[in-house]
Amino acid sequence: MRRRCYTSNSHANSGSRRIDTSICHHRAEIATWLNGVKEHSLNFEQFSLDPRITDAIKAVGYVIPTPIQRQAIPIVLQGRDVMGLAQTGTGKTAAFVLPILQRLIQVPSRHVRALILAPTRELAEQIHGMITDLGRNGPARSVTIYGGVSKRSQLGALRRGVEIVVACPGRLLDHIDDGLIDLSRTEVLVVDEADRMCDMGFLPDIRRILLYLPPRRQTLFFSATMPAEIRSLANSILNNPVPVQVGNLTPTASVSHCLYPTSDTLKPRLLLALLQQIAHPRVLIFTRTKIRASNLAASLEKNGYRVSALQGDMEQRRRDEAMNGFRAGHYDILVATDIAARGIDVSRISHVINYDMPDTADAYTHRIGRTGRVNETGEAFTLAVGSDEIVVHEIEKALGARIERRWLPGFGHEDRTAAIRLPVQPGRRHFQLSLAGRRRRMRGF
Ligand code: AMP
Repeated sequence: MRRRCYTSNSHANSGSRRIDTSICHHRAEIATWLNGVKEHSLNFEQFSLDPRITDAIKAVGYVIPTPIQRQAIPIVLQGRDVMGLAQTGTGKTAAFVLPILQRLIQVPSRHVRALILAPTRELAEQIHGMITDLGRNGPARSVTIYGGVSKRSQLGALRRGVEIVVACPGRLLDHIDDGLIDLSRTEVLVVDEADRMCDMGFLPDIRRILLYLPPRRQTLFFSATMPAEIRSLANSILNNPVPVQVGNLTPTASVSHCLYPTSDTLKPRLLLALLQQIAHPRVLIFTRTKIRASNLAASLEKNGYRVSALQGDMEQRRRDEAMNGFRAGHYDILVATDIAARGIDVSRISHVINYDMPDTADAYTHRIGRTGRVNETGEAFTLAVGSDEIVVHEIEKALGARIERRWLPGFGHEDRTAAIRLPVQPGRRHFQLSLAGRRRRMRGF
């Protein structure tokens, strides 16, 4: 298969490529929309999409476009580049999928026309699922391309011909290097969850992939945050983009969240106590490491919970089994790491529990955004130990608000007070000092 390579700077650095972020300051309307207060004057009919697409929208049950869909769909339909600052749970996937389907339906043509880059296989599958649902009445065919599974079915689909490729960068580059995929006539490039791709070290891969795309194309760029390197990537690949911002950096209004100050020793018992309070648990629990995810899932299972772990070391088959099992309700609890949980879109997650504190304010927002998704409400609990104090302050600074502290009976002030009152006894000094240290650390909250 013929491959064409374009130089990345063929259209970069022009003055028109600067992003006008000044327009990015209007506040999100999603909260009012979610509460049903916002006027419902705009429905999907007003985008004048092909009837086959509007029929599919009805079939999946969407009635009112979300704020990002209202903002982005008309712009994307005009062929403009978009710089989307939007967190997950806002409906951003359909905001780019619908106009892409419209383009493909209008002028059918059998080659790769849209490339969607996603950081994880789970997110790639979700996007693919949405393309399948919304494109059910049209001719567009889509394939997912990611590592950890055999290349054979991906190659089969590529040979049969597809219009949309949803890919994780690493495996896509393998196919490019093997000369098995021709991206030279790609009309639309979507970079989804760019900040997470950056976290996962994919930026060099993305820059390489760009060499195989035509310079004249529409580019849609989505990220929940905009650190300097993401902004620089966006500046170099977008052409006079229209900024679209929804959700800002605060968690969606439908999530109520609080902190449970605790200690590492009390954490396991506190988690069990919290879970006992949830009547019909459908809980996503985050841990810092893969091994902690596996161990915690095993210990919850011993405590009688229907639970599965989802972490990057698991082979794809087991990850699929965990995701699908949680989705189907075979498991009530999924214990995951940040990267594995990226893009998880499971409806009706009642609670997110941060068993371990996330590293950054952005990660906190992403995690708790797993619950309270479109049209639903959810709760997020974070177990915070003394060493988390700095991150907690960072998160509160980013949110512009103090997160409520709560204590369960038996896990709060009274324990610490009791510990501090222990009489000093020979041989107990170390124990008492460590409790006092813990008291100091817990006080930070
Ligand atoms: P996303 O932010 O793209 O991950 O979407 C989050 C969830 O919202 C997905 O489950 C979508 O199916 C759902 N969704 C997207 N658009 C709408 C809409 N207009 N009405 C109701 N649900 C939607």
